[in-house]
Amino acid sequence: MAAPEHVSPDFLIVGGGIAGAATAYELARRGAGSVLVVDREPVLGAHSTAKNAGILRTWIADEPTRELALESLAFLEQPPAGFGDVPLIDPVGLVLEVRDADAAAFDAWAARRPGGALRLDEREFTARAPHVAWRPGGWALVPGDGRLDAAAIHAGFVAGARRAGARFVSEARVTELLRDAGRVVGARFADGARVTAGCTVVAAGGWASALGADAGSPLRFAPRRRHLLVTAVDDRVDPRWPVVWSDAGRYYVRPESGGLLVCACDEAEVDPDRCDVDAAVLDVIAERVASNLPRFADAGAAHYWCGMRTFTDDPRFAIGWDPTVEGLAWVAALGGHGMTCSAGVGRLAADVLTGVDAGRPARAFDPARLVGSGGDADEGAESAETRADALRA
Ligand SMILES: Cc1cc2nc3c(=O)[nH]c(=O)nc-3n(C[C@H](O)[C@H](O)[C@H](O)COP(=O)(O)OP(=O)(O)OC[C@H]3O[C@@H](n4cnc5c(N)ncnc54)[C@H](O)[C@@H]3O)c2cc1C
Repeated sequence: MAAPEHVSPDFLIVGGGIAGAATAYELARRGAGSVLVVDREPVLGAHSTAKNAGILRTWIADEPTRELALESLAFLEQPPAGFGDVPLIDPVGLVLEVRDADAAAFDAWAARRPGGALRLDEREFTARAPHVAWRPGGWALVPGDGRLDAAAIHAGFVAGARRAGARFVSEARVTELLRDAGRVVGARFADGARVTAGCTVVAAGGWASALGADAGSPLRFAPRRRHLLVTAVDDRVDPRWPVVWSDAGRYYVRPESGGLLVCACDEAEVDPDRCDVDAAVLDVIAERVASNLPRFADAGAAHYWCGMRTFTDDPRFAIGWDPTVEGLAWVAALGGHGMTCSAGVGRLAADVLTGVDAGRPARAFDPARLVGSGGDADEGAESAETRADALRA
């Protein structure tokens, strides 16, 4: 479909993945103005939003990000009527390591998180995750975490936004942001069409940075490739096993389609147009399986794919106005937590775009922090280095 040249929306959102869909949903439902979402692909949500691990992990060491996760949890557990007709999350539980440095924050968080969390010793760990080799660490179980249905969540935001009047156009690739006297005023498309808009929101995942740079923004985001492997169907797998996530061991694993989904937490920076599968990472995954899931060392691979997790330098999400280019806003760099935090991201983006004072969260995620001209990169107790570990996990 060609880009609709005759419309001039209040909000032009570039990218129809979870970032663009959740933002459109919130803007449209508030009646904030006309909303047009454009995406380069024939199918909406075909990139990171379709290629992720489908894990709901609400403990995130970065405090503002975990607040967005808890806000989103409430939404995903009880979405508004009509959002969808399947459960969006399956709380099989998530077993994860808590670093000593995070122990106090984790315990305080666990006391607030609906369903709580509990520490696991070796016996309890092995009872919950008999397929995973024990290694000493500060293990905990978050019983209400587990799997999320990424396709249903994305479809719910798209359908809800459409019902509220937002328009989505696929096969509409933005080649350039239009500028007038330094201000971004819309976009030009691959077929030559132009759309002018009151505000242009870049929610283009791994491609976001390049679009903004061409328009004069100083912001840079790094797309990092991550591979996932699903083993062949294996009757030793119990589909109710929890997700197990080891930051120290650099792997996570959960049941999927009768086998196991395994990730070796790789993060090579890539050109977004060349995010291709690297067969060499298979060896790394095999090594992680052999050391941590020894009973499955012989498992064959059924599916193997990769996708992009895109990061700022600090590396919190970038949600809000560009610090230097008027008319340009960002809902970008959602890293490895974009599905878990989806509802909070859409709400916060709509607050900022419509001038609602969102307080501390708005400052924490403000892109201005990335060029040292505003925002508050030090929101929360952690150093940038600690945040980087936590958010890149
Ligand atoms: C392997 C992997 C595992 C992950 N696991 C999890 C997980 O378990 N839990 C979790 O919460 N998160 C997870 N994530 C992170 C999550 O998937 C992302 O944070 C989220 O999907 C990012 O959404 P997005 O909308 O920003 O990007 P995308 O989904 O990539 O959407 C960007 C869209 O912009 C469009 N676009 C780009 N350029 C243009 C252009 N020029 N013109 C028009 N359209 C354009 C693209 O076609 C695309 O549809 C994972 C990610 C990966 C890669």
